[in-house]
Amino acid sequence: MVKLAEWQGKDVFRKYGIPLPRGAVAGSADEAESLVRSGAVPLPCVVKAQVLAGGRGKGGAVRFANTPEEARGAAGAILALEFKGERVRKVLLEEKLSIGRELYVSMTLDRTQRLPVLITSAKGGVEIETVADAEIDRQSVDPFPGLTGYEKRRAAQVFGISGSQARSLDRLLDSLWKVFQREDAELVEINPLAIVGDGLVALDAKVIIEDDAAFRHPEYAEVRDDRTELEEIAREKEIAFVQLDGNIGVIANGAGLTMATLDVLKELGGAPGVFLDLGGTDDPKKVTEAFLLMARARPASVFLNIFGGVTRCDTVAKGLVDAMGQVPANERFPLIARIRGNNEKEGIEILRSAGVTSVSDLRASAQAAVDAARGRT
Ligand code: ADP
Ligand code: MG
Repeated sequence: MVKLAEWQGKDVFRKYGIPLPRGAVAGSADEAESLVRSGAVPLPCVVKAQVLAGGRGKGGAVRFANTPEEARGAAGAILALEFKGERVRKVLLEEKLSIGRELYVSMTLDRTQRLPVLITSAKGGVEIETVADAEIDRQSVDPFPGLTGYEKRRAAQVFGISGSQARSLDRLLDSLWKVFQREDAELVEINPLAIVGDGLVALDAKVIIEDDAAFRHPEYAEVRDDRTELEEIAREKEIAFVQLDGNIGVIANGAGLTMATLDVLKELGGAPGVFLDLGGTDDPKKVTEAFLLMARARPASVFLNIFGGVTRCDTVAKGLVDAMGQVPANERFPLIARIRGNNEKEGIEILRSAGVTSVSDLRASAQAAVDAARGRT
């Protein structure tokens, strides 16, 4: 998923003429101060952590400053934060606007309707998940005419605005629609959209580009900083690999079995960490590569759950044993395997002779992985 940080989303908004506060990005407290001193950022200003997680306002990652020194202090403090597990590397400094009301607007895909949907609420500035359903308006949009006067008027009603504010909304929604379509976005969200004087200004920006359209947008290739380093390597090798917070590694095949395996571990009190979906492959080279990548994530234990359909259990086992031999001694971990299906016996034999615990019952094997991880981290 190509998830843009606020400042990157705002760069896109600027191209499409969506009104924004004046501002600039800084990577250090020094830089923040000089942006204010040079006048690139007017005072009073806001200093905002550039992380992908939301809820920065509540979480101390949005601060206000009245002087260059205060801007420096706020930037320094925010740059030292780890916000929801993400190191803050950049801050966005913007003029502080005097806000009338905070509204919510987004454009996304309604996958059940198979249509784009325009979502509006007069209750902006808080996470939309916390707003009562009755306060949220949803309008399906026919992609061929795109947004029409009808949807725009209804949005103005939802917001309770008219006159020049409604005209400002009209232009803004046209731009929002263009961003959504031309950038192949799966979400374009402005929260809050602020009433400032007789117009509207986007104070925040959340833009997610549809992954399947990424090839049409080489300009976003550099943005993929939501992937971990290992996930990035996996992607290049075409291995489905995801890093979560837990400490148990999971290797399974097929999305269904992989998800079920994560569920069982969780149910047994384990914390699934990295998971890896071998898909339909039993190519020993691929299995080896995947396994070595798993080892680099330093799991406390690894649970291998393979169903041999097209995939042959014995070739998967061969790849594994091969890979295990290549893992450096200080990176080894207990491996619990459950392999069922095509050439199961041969597979288990190969694993057993390499010293791998092999259990055929799902819960029992998952439990063994949970137990093995316990006490290691
Ligand atoms: P988040 O969604 O992560 O909490 P926002 O960008 O929405 O971060 O900012 C949180 C709040 O900070 C906004 O709801 C708004 O009240 C205030 N704010 C943000 N930018 C500005 C600005 N340029 N001027 C005035 N207030 C702002
Ligand atoms: Mg916001």
